[in-house]
Amino acid sequence: MRFGISHVLDAIERRISTDPTAAGGVTDLGEVVRRADLDGGRPAHLLRLGLVIDALSKHMADPRVAIYAVADRALLSDTDLTANERMVIRRWSDDGKVEVVRNGGPTAALRAREIAALTGLPLISRNSTGFPGLSYAPAPTPNGVVLIPQMIGPGPAAPAAVLGRQWRCPEPGCASFGPPGQRNSDPFGPPPDEDAEPAGPPPPQLLNGRPHCPRHGAPLTDIGPRPRAVTLAARVDGMVWHRFQVTEAEPVPVGRAPEEHNGVGLGLALDDRGLRWVSRSHLRFELRGHTLQVIDTSTNGSTVLLRTGPADAPRRAPLNRGEVAPLTEWDTVELYEGVELGRADRASGPVTGAPSTGSVMAEAPTQSIRLA
Ligand SMILES: [Zn+2]
Repeated sequence: MRFGISHVLDAIERRISTDPTAAGGVTDLGEVVRRADLDGGRPAHLLRLGLVIDALSKHMADPRVAIYAVADRALLSDTDLTANERMVIRRWSDDGKVEVVRNGGPTAALRAREIAALTGLPLISRNSTGFPGLSYAPAPTPNGVVLIPQMIGPGPAAPAAVLGRQWRCPEPGCASFGPPGQRNSDPFGPPPDEDAEPAGPPPPQLLNGRPHCPRHGAPLTDIGPRPRAVTLAARVDGMVWHRFQVTEAEPVPVGRAPEEHNGVGLGLALDDRGLRWVSRSHLRFELRGHTLQVIDTSTNGSTVLLRTGPADAPRRAPLNRGEVAPLTEWDTVELYEGVELGRADRASGPVTGAPSTGSVMAEAPTQSIRLA
């Protein structure tokens, strides 16, 4: 049983990140581990984070999406958790995988709201009252934990200026704002995911409008510009097939098999007719400040699907070769029937009849939470 649980914790560890571009939501870890009604088990249990990751995966139809977890320092000494669970959280914190906020500063719950507001990531919480952006509440159902949308939007109204700079914490070995290479996995963790992109930095904490380190409370030093980034997902029949980043510094071509080094080739996701229809380089994505735009570069054109919310029936607008269209929060662009691209952190919910997105809890012994 111990063996099973450590495997589950390894699986969870691969899906936690303080890199907003890898995450699909931000949450207060202390709130999640105490949601005993999710499984009916003991008052606090670290494996509840796995239930919420699985719910996020299912909601986003994305088997690789990570969660950004913030914890109060008190959680590291919370005796409702086992000594092993507290040790694991401490290790995740030291590795920069979970953000543990200092005593005396804003709480983890407030910090999670701040991260969601700065980045546009959904807030995953049952205490989202007053939060104006997209939020989901984890809820138990007979089919497992699901995310219930609380608020739909809007996303950030303007690009957060702090996300366009690189920041350093004066504290040596800071796991959030240390020099590159600081945020490495440790020898006791699971092997790093080969597909994982280099971790991007967390957003600074703003105190009186000035960037601070959420772990140490120290003012951060501005060490230069950093191109803002947005994570897009290519969805095939609603399921995330590939995630990629578009930065202000570099447009990204997408098509059957673009020649550019950073091109996203979707040939393997296309049937024979699709391979004939889709151009080698079909679309180009660019990030201009806060605006994501798509440029058609294809022979056959594409279609922008305009939506004001996740439940809307889309309004279809053709995009012909050479035309440019902005893509707002819930919009997608259809490259070919069933192949859509849009923001990775905006999904309309579980896809009915879709293949399973897998589970980080797969290796958990049956009822491990209840038995533990
Ligand atoms: Zn720091």
